[in-house]
Amino acid sequence: MEGVPLRSFPNTDGMSIVLAAVSAIQQDKERLCDLDGATGDGDHGINMNKGFTLCAEALAASPKDFSGSLLQLSGILMRDIGGSMGPLYGSFFRAMGRTCLEAPDIDGALFLSMLEKGEQAVLSIGQAHRGDKTMLDCLGPALDAFRIALDGGETFPSALLRMKAAAACGRDATYDMLARVGRASRLGERSRGHIDAGAASCCTILCAMADGIALRLQP
Ligand code: ADP
Ligand code: MG
Repeated sequence: MEGVPLRSFPNTDGMSIVLAAVSAIQQDKERLCDLDGATGDGDHGINMNKGFTLCAEALAASPKDFSGSLLQLSGILMRDIGGSMGPLYGSFFRAMGRTCLEAPDIDGALFLSMLEKGEQAVLSIGQAHRGDKTMLDCLGPALDAFRIALDGGETFPSALLRMKAAAACGRDATYDMLARVGRASRLGERSRGHIDAGAASCCTILCAMADGIALRLQP
């Protein structure tokens, strides 16, 4: 019989969650380049793989807690990678890391707040909105589904499953969207009929983090 899942995990145990996202991005590199190649310059997988791999190397040399690992990733993305995604994902992970900086334990409510602060950071830096065919079209629905599940009394792992499903739907829904920001917007109507590369990487990251957290919540 399965036990009741834990309500939270210690911040000190969270580095593996960031490393799970690193592995997922490394495995997804080619697909992310192919997706970006259809509407942009084809570098998204290269940029992301470079930043995430540098982060894993830094964490191997100097292990950190969840907050510290997110801030490490943020710093590297802001400093060391090209493309729009450096500052955007850099701000996303910085906001997430700062939100749990002083917390001994991460529960569902805190993780929700981390995602919300992350979305606000991307919104304010990138000046895009949901519906513009970007990473926000994965992140937004994913965090909404997570919030609704928690508000409905679901456990942290169950809310994470809802988040994963919504992230994938959000990513897939970018297929029909018209790109209104970034490089893909130059294509106008021709930007339709492709999944957005940033929405795809966002889905990969959120799903890997959700799986990493679920492992930490096993009784
Ligand atoms: P670049 O377009 O500079 O080559 P990347 O290829 O690394 O950068 O990233 C492209 C992705 O960036 C797009 O697929 C889109 O999801 C995301 N993006 C672009 N502009 C914005 C923005 N203003 N806000 C949020 N996401 C954006
Ligand atoms: Mg690109």
